[in-house]
Amino acid sequence: MNQPASYLVTLVLTVSALVAGCSREEDKPPAAEVVAVVEQVPTEPVAPDVEWRQHGFTAAEDRFSPLADINAGNVSKLGLAWYFDYPTSRGMEATPLVIDGVIYTTGSWSMVYANDALSGELLWFYDPQVPRDWAVHGCCDVVNRGVAYSGGNLYFGTFDGRLVSLDAADGSLNWEVRTTDPERPYTITGAPRIIKDKVIIGNGGAEFGVRGYVSAYNVNNGELAWRFYTVPGNPAEGFENEAMKRAAATWGGGEWWVVGGGGTVWDSMAYDPDLNLLYVGVGNGAPWNRQIRSPDGGDNLYVSSILALNPDDGSYVWHYQTTPGETWDYTATQHLILADLDIGGKQRQVIMQAPKNGFFYVLDRASGELLSATPYATVNWATHVDMETGRPVEVEGARYEKEATGLLLPGPYGAHNWHPMSYNPETGLVYIPAQDVPYVYETDTDFRHRPGYWNTGVDARPAALPDDPEVRATVEQSITGAVIAWDPVAATTRWRVEHVGPWNGGILSTAGDLVFQGNASGELVAYRADTGERLWSFDAQTGIIAPPVSYRIDGVQYLAVVAGAGGSLPLAGGADVLKTGPLVNRSRLLVFKLGGEAALPPAAEKVLVIDPPELTGSAEQVAAGFKVYSTYCVFCHGDGAISGGVTPDLRALTPEKHAMWDAIVLGGMHWQNGMVGFGGELNQEQADNIHHYVIERAHFAVDQAVEEAVDTGGAGEVAPGAAVE
Ligand code: CA
Repeated sequence: MNQPASYLVTLVLTVSALVAGCSREEDKPPAAEVVAVVEQVPTEPVAPDVEWRQHGFTAAEDRFSPLADINAGNVSKLGLAWYFDYPTSRGMEATPLVIDGVIYTTGSWSMVYANDALSGELLWFYDPQVPRDWAVHGCCDVVNRGVAYSGGNLYFGTFDGRLVSLDAADGSLNWEVRTTDPERPYTITGAPRIIKDKVIIGNGGAEFGVRGYVSAYNVNNGELAWRFYTVPGNPAEGFENEAMKRAAATWGGGEWWVVGGGGTVWDSMAYDPDLNLLYVGVGNGAPWNRQIRSPDGGDNLYVSSILALNPDDGSYVWHYQTTPGETWDYTATQHLILADLDIGGKQRQVIMQAPKNGFFYVLDRASGELLSATPYATVNWATHVDMETGRPVEVEGARYEKEATGLLLPGPYGAHNWHPMSYNPETGLVYIPAQDVPYVYETDTDFRHRPGYWNTGVDARPAALPDDPEVRATVEQSITGAVIAWDPVAATTRWRVEHVGPWNGGILSTAGDLVFQGNASGELVAYRADTGERLWSFDAQTGIIAPPVSYRIDGVQYLAVVAGAGGSLPLAGGADVLKTGPLVNRSRLLVFKLGGEAALPPAAEKVLVIDPPELTGSAEQVAAGFKVYSTYCVFCHGDGAISGGVTPDLRALTPEKHAMWDAIVLGGMHWQNGMVGFGGELNQEQADNIHHYVIERAHFAVDQAVEEAVDTGGAGEVAPGAAVE
């Protein structure tokens, strides 16, 4: 599709045979005679195509597009070129790849879609048939963050732990391999990366109980090339390598290998071809609570670390642990970006990360040397990072050894989660989708390993939004989201734009002095890259969490984003609901160009009808239900049974659904949606108590709505059973 010709050359041909007429006997191609080149008409140069071939655009993962056809001066004319409706309505997190005029995305349940990048026409799709009941093993919805491409083939992970290769031309299967133990609650949501002849893939599941690792497979046949575990297994069984032996010395006193130890590589990677180093971000410990998994303390290597590996054989090169002895779900799986920065008058090859723990790290990526670590969001678990030791200086009580913490910041949702950042070398800024989402940590004194279910060792109840209106308002106000333009050299914020709440989209920056980001409130927004001025927005009718990409075909620049909320964030999602009303989730591929004139169909109505049956449970039963709900249900169905927009809002169940409660909760009637039966784990009394709790929460919502209506003088408009908007 490249059209580099910049001049239209008109040739005037004289074909005497045609002029004179020709007989059939002389029916051979007439000789063409070039008489003259009569003119050379200068036309608009057709700029070369620019594709988006890798997850992070480049191996350095900077997500900076060099395209400037859409720029700060004309972005106001940006309009929808086309859209494509996905057939699912679960979480959407993929980075599209754009190759040879085709846009490849993944959606819920690890499905893969190939659309014509100009027209939007669906060319093919592939459903890897993820068993729907595997959803119960996912912390954060049945999401997928994208495909990788190499040599005409696509590679992607499936939610149930497979790595699949497809022919990019028609979506036919090349091969697939299982990368995880099916007896363990592993999931894959991250995009693979390609390094030479290998496809690199990690996995997730540290909330449930797995041992993390990253693997490399041959791109051609799916043969395992190497595997690097990130945490040690049972020392009695020996160690895979010296790195594991050294790591095991930092764990002690417990049987971490029973729950798994965690340290999953569930998202970020980057690659430096010159240094030949693969960088991976390592997740939290399993269970979260270090007192349970390693009662003697210790750093618990390599949880919450950035690891540098040799991509040829998977051998350890260096590590930097962001959160030694991690006990808060402070993963270091957040986006990794490679850049060359002038620091202290010296050019440094750096790797940058804004992990969950709230500090922005700049490391020398050849050696792992810490260059800076500075809070980019509200941090109260540690005062600072000691540059001598490279370790955070923790605040007393942050580890909740004796009692619950107060509102600790960041919480397990992180000051920044998986949503990609972007580094713009022209402004020198890193754009961070940041947030403040506090959490109250308290040890779960009833903890036992529940194979296949949530195993955090943290009691989720203290973190629930309190009912007292004033306290609730205070907590809600502390939950925020923002896009931050971070100067990684000066280690400071250059500009910041506030969002309604947290859990907003990943970011793209471009040479057009633009930063694009979707948000939880349903907009796609363009900001000036140097000042943060809001220049353009589009009503996407749905929350957006995925990052936009940009490409150019036939001289026209496009902007593409996979729209749709999800990636369940119970507390923050709940807070957004409280601030903005019920969330509507619509899974769509949106593609824009200057002058685009396509329009979306009318938006779905944001109405939630809460009309609960009478509450018959006692206060004790409701409290017991709260406990069970907090152990098994809250992570998908939301704090206080307030849906984050992906799973059904349990406060709004219909009478029919209430009547089917046991069949759904214990029997698994809705297993096709991922709602498995809990009958093997919970008894009838527990199911009843959860039901009482959910009904009580519904009544609370109705009472609150009535109260608010009275407060605002609208008492007659909102009544129990009416829509709560
Ligand atoms: Ca986690």
